[in-house]
Amino acid sequence: MKITHIEAIHLRLPKVVEAADGTQDCLIVRVHTDAGITGLGEVVSCSYVAKAVIEAPRSAPFRHGLSAIVTGMDALDFDTIHNAMIEGVSWYGPGGVARQAMSGIDMALWDIWGKAEGKAVRKLLREDAADTVPAYASVLWPKRPELVQESASAFLAQGYQSVKYGWAPMGPDADLDEALVAAAREALGPDVNLMVDAGRAWNAETALKRVARFEKYNVFWLEEPLHPFDVQGYCELSTQSSIPIAGGEAMTLVSEYANLLHNGKLHFVQPDLGRVGGITGGLAIEKLAKETGARAVPHAFGTGVLLAASAQWAAASEQPLTEYTRAPSPLAQKLAQHEMTFRNGALHLTDQPGLGVDLDEDVVAEFRVKK
Ligand SMILES: [Mg+2]
Repeated sequence: MKITHIEAIHLRLPKVVEAADGTQDCLIVRVHTDAGITGLGEVVSCSYVAKAVIEAPRSAPFRHGLSAIVTGMDALDFDTIHNAMIEGVSWYGPGGVARQAMSGIDMALWDIWGKAEGKAVRKLLREDAADTVPAYASVLWPKRPELVQESASAFLAQGYQSVKYGWAPMGPDADLDEALVAAAREALGPDVNLMVDAGRAWNAETALKRVARFEKYNVFWLEEPLHPFDVQGYCELSTQSSIPIAGGEAMTLVSEYANLLHNGKLHFVQPDLGRVGGITGGLAIEKLAKETGARAVPHAFGTGVLLAASAQWAAASEQPLTEYTRAPSPLAQKLAQHEMTFRNGALHLTDQPGLGVDLDEDVVAEFRVKK
């Protein structure tokens, strides 16, 4: 089954604001084969740049675009494809945007493999993979603490057992930060897991002061309190914090995760399958996490394509859990069509082959960036 061509489908809302919401501008990959089977994947990156990485024509050695590299190859020959992609981009990769663009192709290849075998991707990963994956609601902080109640109540009503709030206005003001966390805990009650994403706001010293103020609110994890590459800071923080520390969504290469986990001592690691080399990359990071005693939980703040891949991957892991963005963007909420249902705090997966996800072509037509 040969790859015939690759589409890089760039979708963008008419108005994009500078908030930490990656669901405003997304890049979907569709891999076509001569058997008529297609696969979907998602790239989490700067979509304009990543699209160019996929579409760039063949060039001097090691400077090729990914589509040119893999077109004509056997879609099920993962090793050859991965080696060719890594070699083919090595003048400008293999990390960063090169790896992010590869991620979309990798996911699409798993989707194709599942469809070819008539199996859900999680069953390719592990025959006895789970059929339900606990999913935590994930949104940005409301602008003021008094607005948290309404948001949290809506999540409770929908059955979420874990909720994450993140980014601004958390950061510069310790009193405001504590008021936000206190409001979330009060609104969620004592039994729902509360995750806090600090959005890279502090250094280790400040983060430890925040931990001292947050610890009475029973925070499940404190996410990305530091700059993503401040490994020394993460080590200081993780070894002293009474709240488990999470991070890693910014990384792409296994070697970067190895440094972060071995030397930064994180408790939770959050590979984004749209950045780390897809499901294949995620497996390598999960293995690494196990070695260091960390728990891997996918970062998934994108469309339903990323959600489907993250849910399938998490279902095959030892302690399934996935992020489930509740961002209001139509790209997050309407682009992907799937039969997963959410109830009692978990995504219930189906046995649809592959990732079990399709695109709503009306949504594609509405938001696709014209050349
Ligand atoms: Mg985060």
